[in-house]
Amino acid sequence: MKNKIGRRQLLGGLATGTVAAAATAPAYAQGKRRLKMVTTWPKNFPGLGTAPENIAKRVKTMTDGQIDIKIYAAGELVGPFEAFDAVSTGTADIYNGAEYYWQGKSPAFNFFTAVPFGMTAAEINAWMNFGGGDSLWQELSAKFSIRAFHSANTGVQMGGWFNREITKLDDFKGLKIRMPGLGGEVMRRLGAAAVSLPGGEIFPSMKSGAIDASEWVGPWNDLAFGFHQVAEYYYCPGFHEPGAALSTGVNLDVWNSLTKAQQEIFKNACEAENDHTLSEYNYKNATALDTLVSKHNVKVRRFSPEIMAALKKTSDAVLEEAAASDPFTKKVYDSFRASLENSMEWGAQSEEPYTQARREV
Ligand code: CA
Repeated sequence: MKNKIGRRQLLGGLATGTVAAAATAPAYAQGKRRLKMVTTWPKNFPGLGTAPENIAKRVKTMTDGQIDIKIYAAGELVGPFEAFDAVSTGTADIYNGAEYYWQGKSPAFNFFTAVPFGMTAAEINAWMNFGGGDSLWQELSAKFSIRAFHSANTGVQMGGWFNREITKLDDFKGLKIRMPGLGGEVMRRLGAAAVSLPGGEIFPSMKSGAIDASEWVGPWNDLAFGFHQVAEYYYCPGFHEPGAALSTGVNLDVWNSLTKAQQEIFKNACEAENDHTLSEYNYKNATALDTLVSKHNVKVRRFSPEIMAALKKTSDAVLEEAAASDPFTKKVYDSFRASLENSMEWGAQSEEPYTQARREV
């Protein structure tokens, strides 16, 4: 039962990725550039799919039309989970997705999206910009000929949709659940059968009974997929993704071919969208949750203290083991841990007592 992450697979992925450099250099016309962006999301999906569209618009406007990015939804040019390799090898120029989808190449990628009992949106931004996170991420990405940026954040996610109530730890035994990243590994250790399906495959899998439960994002995105039609119970909190940071990665040769001004524009477009999406999720999740409850009679439940304690304990063990899989992941984990503890110290004296008092007084 122990360590199902597959150390050899993780180490092997990291090693082979270093030689996955671009085989084909993109053709550069003087002046206007057309770049291909592949994504892991359905076309124009709220937040996840609109963020890359917004980035492309921002870049096109700020470069006076010199950089024109064409976006391909999941499956249009390559499969959703092939987006990273497509950019690493130069088949596409840019990807937009979630780093934990590439955890088979290195477990370190998980930390740059979200890990169980990890960072909120504000905390991951703090780690990236001031706690050393970004330079570690660039070191990792460069091994695959990629320059990556955070370009969206969902805020705190929900725990997921279940076709039955989860009241005790035993209820996870044999549960077929969609949960990517290290959260899926936590589920496996509690006896569930966890899978990582692309978003577009969740609804049919729930409907056919191929899976019993699934996390996706939060009320706004989950309502868009119609999960209330295939499951009755909606659990919180999303212990596994307390602030999922999504990303945009550029093929390193393409990145180096941009002018300094174009690079700065691209970077700023991603930063702006990172902020924009978080505010959008915070606003629209609230109204969508109201719709789910009042219009669709969804039953919102909270994981019991006993379940939360077991999830935390198991998550800690999974993170420690992921960190032990190779020296680089350990370095990322240590940096992540130090920055998280720094944020938690401050949060305990600021945001936590404030929001608690606001609700209770
Ligand atoms: Ca999720």
